[in-house]
Amino acid sequence: MVRADIAARREAFQSDARTAHRLLSQRAAQHDAILATLVLLDPMAADEHPATRLPALYPQVLQVWRRAPAADWPLASLAHAEGLSRRAAQPALAALDAGAGHYDLVLAGLATSFALRIELDRWVPWADWPFDRGGAVKAELVHGTQRLLLQSGQPASGWHGGVTPGFVFDKALDTPSQPFVLHLQRATGPADWPWLRLLTMALAVSLMAAAAGAFERQRQRRLRAEQLLRLARTARLNALGELAAGVAHELNQPLTAVVASTQAARRLLDDEPLPRSTLLDALGHASDQARRAADVVARLRRLVEGPGGATAVQPVVLGDAVRGALGLLQPELRRLGLVPDIVDAGVSVSADPVALEQILHNLLNNALQAMDGVPAAQRRLRLSIDKQAGRGVLRVLDGGTGLAPEVLAQLFQPFTSTKAGGLGLGLSLSESLAIAMGGSLTAQNRQDQGAEFRLELPLATAP
Ligand code: ADP
Repeated sequence: MVRADIAARREAFQSDARTAHRLLSQRAAQHDAILATLVLLDPMAADEHPATRLPALYPQVLQVWRRAPAADWPLASLAHAEGLSRRAAQPALAALDAGAGHYDLVLAGLATSFALRIELDRWVPWADWPFDRGGAVKAELVHGTQRLLLQSGQPASGWHGGVTPGFVFDKALDTPSQPFVLHLQRATGPADWPWLRLLTMALAVSLMAAAAGAFERQRQRRLRAEQLLRLARTARLNALGELAAGVAHELNQPLTAVVASTQAARRLLDDEPLPRSTLLDALGHASDQARRAADVVARLRRLVEGPGGATAVQPVVLGDAVRGALGLLQPELRRLGLVPDIVDAGVSVSADPVALEQILHNLLNNALQAMDGVPAAQRRLRLSIDKQAGRGVLRVLDGGTGLAPEVLAQLFQPFTSTKAGGLGLGLSLSESLAIAMGGSLTAQNRQDQGAEFRLELPLATAP
């Protein structure tokens, strides 16, 4: 773009330079004509000295000299030039004073000769001059080693010039009597560059880039949305799988107990004498666990049906429920060398016993698993039961690893787990159950070590 712009400027410069050259040549020819007229008419014959009228007509003529036959020129240079003029039969250049800005021109006549002093500045037809006088173009008339400066132009380096090649015009005037070479020079530099157009273009390009960027971002968003949709579809399938796994997880425990008890009962049948009461215990245990499995299924159904499917709430002594849940975890407690510290204010809550048992089992099981990895001396399990603000509150405090920060934010979301093989369903199910019973389940890390879970349930209404 800069190159094209410079080419256009060069073309304009050359055209203006030709105009300037023509104008100066015409003016120079005028001087020849003036001298020729003077020599021909010799106005000194009359009383009027041409010097009095000529400058009024031709402001560039500073002075007119007339040498009468046998008279002398006031300046030696004029005499010398007259000789030249006579030989060449045309006006000849006499003194050229570049500093003062004028030159003398002599025409030898047959009898009388005339000379003119031309002031350079007035000679240039500024009114028609194609260049701006204070502008960028430097103009000189060159004669030998002398240079008559018409206008100085601008520096040929830096911001204004030098970076790109400038324009130059050199041509001798078409008047042999005044053999000046018109030298025009225009420096070009960054100052001339079409910044506005460059900026407009840069703006257009960046707008296009921005539009392309926006289009690309939009495309990415659409792609992401499509991916999310696909993911959601997959996640739903996964969730179904996880739910099935969760159901299996909950049923596994009672069903294993049923199998164990019925197998024990079977073995007892072979004993002699028949250990009736032990056998009855085993069968009773089996049927209890089978009922528990049935309860799990019923509760899951209620859970799927939503909070509308009312849970079978009844008054439950919270301490008893906690001790019952701990009973199921005896082997684990023993393995970890733990004796739970229970502070029980004796509180009855309104709850579904199976749901409560499930919650307690999950909380205690998690607490024990969190303490698996810590040194035995640091393991402690504290359970406190009391009333607060009209609700029964159970706090489960452990000395385990504590809740990882990334887990804490989504602790109760399904499938949040840090355990290898963990389903991440326990806490989300527990919270749902607590809420379904009009309670709540919250968690936080303890100041020193481990986690604290807080289960709140409505107090049982007095019968
Ligand atoms: P799962 O036990 O299958 O991982 P849960 O929903 O029961 O699923 O627990 C989710 C996650 O919460 C666990 O993987 C564990 O990182 C964290 N968590 C739960 N209870 C505790 C606890 N008492 N101490 C430390 N982390 C716990």
